Amino acid sequence: MARNKVQFQKGMSVTEFQKLYGTEEQCYDALYSWRWPEGFKCPLCGHDKSCRIAQRKMHQCNRCHHQTSLIAGTIFESTKLPLVTWFLAMFFITQEKKGISAMELRRLLGISYNAAWRIKQKLMQVMMERDHDKPLSGFIELDDAYLGGERTGCKPGRGAEGKTPFVAAVETTDEGHPTRIKLTVVEGFRSAEIAKWSKQHLTPGSTVISDGLPCFNAVSEAGCLHDRIVCGGGRASVEEPEFYWVNTILGNLKSALRSTYHAIRPKYAQRYLAEFQYRFNRRFDLSALIPRLAVMAARTAPMPERLLKIGLA
Ligand SMILES: [Zn+2]
Repeated sequence: MARNKVQFQKGMSVTEFQKLYGTEEQCYDALYSWRWPEGFKCPLCGHDKSCRIAQRKMHQCNRCHHQTSLIAGTIFESTKLPLVTWFLAMFFITQEKKGISAMELRRLLGISYNAAWRIKQKLMQVMMERDHDKPLSGFIELDDAYLGGERTGCKPGRGAEGKTPFVAAVETTDEGHPTRIKLTVVEGFRSAEIAKWSKQHLTPGSTVISDGLPCFNAVSEAGCLHDRIVCGGGRASVEEPEFYWVNTILGNLKSALRSTYHAIRPKYAQRYLAEFQYRFNRRFDLSALIPRLAVMAARTAPMPERLLKIGLA
């Protein structure tokens, strides 16, 4: 089951990447077509003709002479790095199966650690915003999970101090194959919190399977059917066939995070979860990940470092 076509999918090679996005001009043209698919439009007067000035980095409207840049108003805004560096970062972030740390990006891109960290956090932010409004539907395996500690299954003491609680949900087909996942940091496993989460992330009419944790009953407030499987407790519970995918994916998530990152600060946890989720949900088409991410990046509002560092908790 695990050794499927996803695992052996090639993704994009460095050579292919270089052919498409190897020069600043290629990256610029690609981003231009993604940002302004219908061609340039002056943000001030709506005119559609412009000329490029200041080392061709700015677009000046031919009618009102307003100047704007391709990256203004996007997540790339105010970057001092060339677009090729951003595209390479998108290549590494989307094509590395276990993700890539800011430290590793720094080395591969030859930039400072802080610059690498900003790129990484900004692109994770794009991934997070992208998946936010796509609710799961059909059959869903649901579980409580924690970052920063071992999973405790049904044992007492779930949600120990210092861990970041998150909801892990896996949407499966009628045949039981996983399609998409949602990993969402929550304040805790309380009914009100799960009700809020369900209304945002589940399509009414879906069937949800969870273990005996009482708060999961709240999925019914979002119009979902709920099937509780009360497990006997201890590690045996994680082997219940009903929870095969959610347990498998949580296992993969934890091993990926452990092998890639030293530690994840709770306030940034949602972005790391979103990154894993984004890649998982698009695993059938790895080479399309770069343009898809770049299109979204061009549509995501700028994120100054101050905001970036507030995080989400
Ligand atoms: Zn104009």
